This record gives sequence, C-alpha cells and structure tokens, in this order.
Amino acid sequence: MRAFTYERASSIEAAAQTAAGNREAKFIAGGTNLLDLMKLEIETPTHLIDVNGLGLDTIEATADGGLRIGAMVRNTDLASHDPID
Ligand SMILES: Cc1cc2nc3c(=O)[nH]c(=O)nc-3n(C[C@H](O)[C@H](O)[C@H](O)COP(=O)(O)OP(=O)(O)OC[C@H]3O[C@@H](n4cnc5c(N)ncnc54)[C@H](O)[C@@H]3O)c2cc1C
Repeated sequence: MRAFTYERASSIEAAAQTAAGNREAKFIAGGTNLLDLMKLEIETPTHLIDVNGLGLDTIEATADGGLRIGAMVRNTDLASHDPID
C-alpha cells in the first residue's frame, strides 16, 4: 500500500472543498472496498477524507411519501428500517 495522509472531515462543505482541491484525495466511509483496492494498488489516493461523523447516516421520510437515504446509512440499518423491512 502506498503512503497517504488522513483527515477526519469537520463538515460536508470542508470535505467537498478538500476533495475539489486535490484530485488524488478520496472519501473513506467504512473502507470495505477502498482499503482492499489500496492494498492491491488499484486505488492509490494520496489523501483520505473520512466522512464518518458528518450526520449523513439518517433515513428520512419525504413529503411525497418517499425516503431520503443518507450516503452513510449502514446496509443493516436500511434493511431493518420499518417501511423497507
Ligand atoms: C463480504 C461482502 C459482502 C457484501 N455484500 C453486499 C451486498 O449484499 N449488497 C451490496 O450492496 N453490497 C455488498 N457488499 C459491498 C459492501 O456493501 C460495500 O463494500 C460497502 O457498501 C462499501 O462501503 P464502505 O463504507 O466500506 O465504502 P468505502 O470502501 O469506504 O468506499 C467505497 C468507495 O465509495 C467512495 N465513498 C465512500 N463514501 C462516500 C461518500 N459519502 N460520498 C462519495 N463517495 C464516497 C470511496 O471514495 C470509495 O471510492 C459486500 C461486501 C463484502 C466485503
């Protein structure tokens, strides 16, 4: 695996700004896919932006009867969510 730097994003805006200014940066969530790809050097980001802790893990009902599913919602939480379960 190649060397990389790591930061825990402080806000959605800060994460987006860092990513926009660094083409070699990648967001990291759980790392399930990304870390394996980095170990094989298929993905070679020089900087990781951790987007955990930004409040993106909510499932909300929308006014038109739909669901807004956050980018960080766990598969298990979504699968057991009442309207889906
Ligand atoms: C044994 C096994 C079984 C699986 N079974 C299933 C299954 O049944 N169904 C299924 O759907 N999947 C399945 N998967 C895939 C699994 O769901 C994905 O690995 C997981 O969703 C990746 O999430 P992560 O948080 O680990 O992402 P990471 O590995 O952290 O990131 C993956 C990619 O998404 C990008 N990314 C992450 N978060 C964001 C964000 N908020 N905004 C923009 N880009 C982002 C990263 O930069 C990276 O390119 C399985 C995986 C394994 C290992």
